[in-house]
Amino acid sequence: MTRPVRAAIDLKALRANLQCVRAAAPLARVLAVIKANGYGHGLTRVAEALHDADAFGVASVEEALVLREAGIAHPIVMLEGFFEAGELAEISRHRLSVVLHHEHQLQILERTDIARPISVWIKIDTGMHRIGFPPELAASIYQRLRGNNKITARIRLMTHLANADDRSDEYTERQLTTFLSSIDGLDGERSVANSAGVLAWPQTHMEWVRPGIMLFGVSPFLDSVAQQEGLSPVMTLTSRLIATNRFRRGDPIGYGGGWICPEDMTVGVVAIGYGDGYPRSMPAGAPVLVRGQRVSVIGRVSMDMLCIDLRGLPQAQIGDEVELWGRNLPVEEVARLSGTIPYELLCGITQRVPIVEQG
Ligand SMILES: *Cc1c(COP(=O)(O)O)cnc(C)c1O
Repeated sequence: MTRPVRAAIDLKALRANLQCVRAAAPLARVLAVIKANGYGHGLTRVAEALHDADAFGVASVEEALVLREAGIAHPIVMLEGFFEAGELAEISRHRLSVVLHHEHQLQILERTDIARPISVWIKIDTGMHRIGFPPELAASIYQRLRGNNKITARIRLMTHLANADDRSDEYTERQLTTFLSSIDGLDGERSVANSAGVLAWPQTHMEWVRPGIMLFGVSPFLDSVAQQEGLSPVMTLTSRLIATNRFRRGDPIGYGGGWICPEDMTVGVVAIGYGDGYPRSMPAGAPVLVRGQRVSVIGRVSMDMLCIDLRGLPQAQIGDEVELWGRNLPVEEVARLSGTIPYELLCGITQRVPIVEQG
């Protein structure tokens, strides 16, 4: 066999998750956020599977142009807008929408000639304190843009939630109140909700929702997994056992020898490592699935391989499939164990991992 690591992408699950967004926010339009190569699932593949979305959100003109070249005609929003004047020609030509969040961008827009007006969103910082105009400037920015013939007549308004993944955090309500009062009297479609907003904060839905992670079948919350939210995991990361070896009590396993066999035992070797995007920070004891059974990672994860404890699974054989996360092993749980979030694991799948489409 060739090197057996695979990321299976379940397109049926992807479409079902879009239906979950529709069911949760029936009156809103859906701006499907597919930045970072579709959260690691493949940008064009994801956009094609989600053709029922109303628009797509990306992080750069490069990502947007990949979609246009693939024939995706939907509205596309650049969620951080443009970074320099040189992008405006492409943005105008390909009818991309941009988020404006800083005076710097307004000045570029005002001094650069463009062929055709572009559509813009004004982003207000209501408490995330990352990007966005201060709430007290919202009305004046809006009026200033109104008078600019380089943008289309329809100005849209947005903000981003910082703590929506915690259902008990009242900060979300405060951000919402700040947003609504900052845009009071301004005419324009509004967008606030990310995935956590879609599922837990219906008052944030408004005209446009912006789900990302939930489309990929991952819970946006700190305390739940996909199934509990009615979502279906899209990516299942697997590889295979490439060796089983017997070691003696006291034998150290892997780099650094930090894990010592507590008894004579069988150790399995799986062809996956941090060179594929499986985190090196994964602690011993983290689960993987072999023959439907959980067994533990032992020793340090290396670039191309990791070791597992096969004491509980004597029937395991070379060639057996091993699931690292996905349909049967929640990526939320795996992420938590390695001290990160599912977003990072999904985006972190590397180029050398072949993607196999399903559904
Ligand atoms: C990434 C992003 C989203 C999607 O967030 P999820 O938590 O993945 O749903 C929404 N809005 C903006 C501005 C983003 O950058």
